[in-house]
Amino acid sequence: MVYKVGIVGHGANKFTPLGEDRAKILICDILRQARAAKQEICVCSGHSPVGGIDIWAEEQAINWEIPLDIKTPKQRKWDSAYGYKQRNIDIAKDSAELHVILVDKYPANYKGMTFNYCYHCNSKEHIKSGACWTAIQARKYGKKVIYHIIKND
Ligand SMILES: [Zn+2]
Repeated sequence: MVYKVGIVGHGANKFTPLGEDRAKILICDILRQARAAKQEICVCSGHSPVGGIDIWAEEQAINWEIPLDIKTPKQRKWDSAYGYKQRNIDIAKDSAELHVILVDKYPANYKGMTFNYCYHCNSKEHIKSGACWTAIQARKYGKKVIYHIIKND
């Protein structure tokens, strides 16, 4: 059976250039380890319209010729026919293990809305992310969840 490696995390604008480099190296490490440990793997992610971890995971999987199972949201809304919520549940259900790649803090030039902590898990070790919501679902399905916190500086 194909072992599905889920990779989710922050969008591109949450990373500094250094954070982005670290995240890409980490994705390579995750894929290398999974490929060494399992006969056949596949990468599952959510094709975020804001880029970041989802897209870097896709790019690396393509480089490594690893098959993809991409869950693309059909509406850019949280709760819809196949919005972010439904997409996230799909990733949580389908992945055998889920890697959650998050940054520790906002980049200095970050323009969006900021929060003092992640309201999904009450942590201050990473900034708020919908990927954390996906991780909570994955745990409910009894999946292995691995957090990776990237230092942005
Ligand atoms: Zn969290």
